[in-house]
Amino acid sequence: MARVYNFSAGPSMLPESVLNRAAAEMLDYNGSGQSVMEMSHRSRVYEEIIFGARELFREVMGIPGNYQVLFLQGGASLQFAAIPQNLLNGSRKADYVVTGQFANKAYQEAQKFGEIKLVASSKAQNFSVIPQLEPEAFTRDADYFYICHNNTIFGTKWDLLPETGGVPLVADISSSFLSEPMDVSKFGVVFGGAQKNIAPAGLTILIVREDLIGRARANTPTVMDWKAVADNDSMYNTPPCWPIYICKLVLEWIQMLGGLPAIQERNEHKAKLLYDYLDGSAMFRNPVPPRFRSLMNVTFVAENEELNKAFVKEAEANGLVNLKGHRSVGGMRASIYNAMPVEGVEALVEFMKEFERKRTP
Ligand SMILES: *Cc1c(COP(=O)(O)O)cnc(C)c1O
Repeated sequence: MARVYNFSAGPSMLPESVLNRAAAEMLDYNGSGQSVMEMSHRSRVYEEIIFGARELFREVMGIPGNYQVLFLQGGASLQFAAIPQNLLNGSRKADYVVTGQFANKAYQEAQKFGEIKLVASSKAQNFSVIPQLEPEAFTRDADYFYICHNNTIFGTKWDLLPETGGVPLVADISSSFLSEPMDVSKFGVVFGGAQKNIAPAGLTILIVREDLIGRARANTPTVMDWKAVADNDSMYNTPPCWPIYICKLVLEWIQMLGGLPAIQERNEHKAKLLYDYLDGSAMFRNPVPPRFRSLMNVTFVAENEELNKAFVKEAEANGLVNLKGHRSVGGMRASIYNAMPVEGVEALVEFMKEFERKRTP
């Protein structure tokens, strides 16, 4: 069967060249006579993979020297609890902005650990915008300030980061990781699950400023304590060996394409194709004001539910799969992560045009 264009929000597409390389190396990685899936994580051959992936990560993202890159498990969701456990240990206060479902989950989880303030929310706008912030409402002595950088379900992204002064900014970047250059020095912590833009599910990556390591509360489980992970080179316990290997291949692919500036250009081109069509369409519409539009997740609806259903079904029959919107939003969502080729977006736009034309009297 021919490969489809998969618009899933995650797990999602991986670059075909990476899949081919992994397939070629499946039974015998680099003359070791073993698959990466079978190797001891303590072996020299595996150390080259994990340390190589970590170094490449630093290089590709331009991560400053006073930050550490940690490879973790448990998904972004585990970090919703690990963040307060590791950071909420001074004033035990933190500020959260709720811009969607994942931000809300993080906000709810943090409440188990201290005094958590909701400084802004866009729930009243059904999360179609990033809310206006009032800096007077920020907690001056907060241990951290939390945002979700790209809202996977609602298709929004922060345009300007909040100015939090000396309070460390913590961001969930699960669905915007490696999609464009990012100034890591503006954050205390960024983290995300790998299954959107980096690797198969099972790997979580956390980039943390060194002075924020070693502050965990005394009752923090050891595997959740960033210091235990950092002190053991992300091998306090067995790491997700295979996803880390794929992560390395994906980073090499990004480098081969010209790094994050080239990736950004490609992603902006893809997103523009889709948004331009939506803005000119009489049938489909995107509810997000341009300045808050996500580069990675494009939501859209047709005039009625019947058309939405027909669209998803016919698209699938044409090899354009997983376009159904999240159950909390309805309509459609095209996730166009790094690995989605330009041709995939062009095929989607062509299909939409044809769908609209056939139904326009
Ligand atoms: C997918 C996603 C999550 C959840 O990730 P898990 O790895 O399943 O825990 C959290 N935040 C954002 C922004 C996401 O896109």
